[in-house]
Amino acid sequence: MLGDGIPTQLGYLGLGVSDVETWSRFATDVLGLQVLPRDPDGTLLARLDAHQYRFILTADPADDLNLIGWEVADERALADLAARLESAGVAVSRGDRSARDRRRVVDLVSFSNPNGIPTEAYYGPLINRAEPFHSPRPMSGFVAGAQGLGHITLTVDSLADSLHFYRDLLGLRMSDWIRPQPERGVQSDLNLAFLHCNARHHSMAFWEMELPKRLHHFMIQVHDLDYVGETYYLCQREAVPIDLSLGRHPNDRMLSFYMKSPSGFDVELGWGAIEIDDDRWTVQLHTDGSMWGHLPVGAD
Ligand code: FE
Repeated sequence: MLGDGIPTQLGYLGLGVSDVETWSRFATDVLGLQVLPRDPDGTLLARLDAHQYRFILTADPADDLNLIGWEVADERALADLAARLESAGVAVSRGDRSARDRRRVVDLVSFSNPNGIPTEAYYGPLINRAEPFHSPRPMSGFVAGAQGLGHITLTVDSLADSLHFYRDLLGLRMSDWIRPQPERGVQSDLNLAFLHCNARHHSMAFWEMELPKRLHHFMIQVHDLDYVGETYYLCQREAVPIDLSLGRHPNDRMLSFYMKSPSGFDVELGWGAIEIDDDRWTVQLHTDGSMWGHLPVGAD
């Protein structure tokens, strides 16, 4: 299965941020990420596990997601994925030496998602076991590694186009849907699709809506529930805006809260999610985003 050109994990994200210095402090002091010395072109890389980096921060007034990186198993998987995209009419360009060096990978290809977000698939990321991940905050680590960096939730122009791209072309697998039902007595067009490519319940979720930013939030998950609680109160102490209070999602069972990043999109910090076993998983339908909590702050 690993060699069939289906992403094995969400490997890295590029964030175009208007204030890289403020982001650097947010990443270290609030999220507990480790930042690396800046690249010569000013790019700031941040890590949360043995991968050399997981986040690529560049100066960009858009304050939005500007790159999605999907990891595949090996050279053949990368070639299979590129061939599948090209046969479906997606333009794919091969990474050159400077792109490979910049990304610290053996090889990569690049293309665009249906909404024009630059996207890469790569294999052979630099794993830095010589210098283990070291958080600037006391903590026991992030749930990452083979589950990838976490998940992203995007707004898309067309649910059908994005389903076709991510499920039918890239090969991500459906986890479930959150779609309010008549029983709930709420009129809503919310129709959220959750997709996975490894044991993480979802590496990506999206719904059709027009919002100022493509990235609604990215999620990072920790091993220790106390770190979620400590960070919740750290945000209040340090005046980091909290968008949604502590709560638990019904589908991935993530216990989490949402804080506002310096770029305006949210970061979800979570703990305790279930993991997917593809031999047993069946797609589910949920009617609510949360079992409890996740209230707009001020409402709890
Ligand atoms: Fe989430």
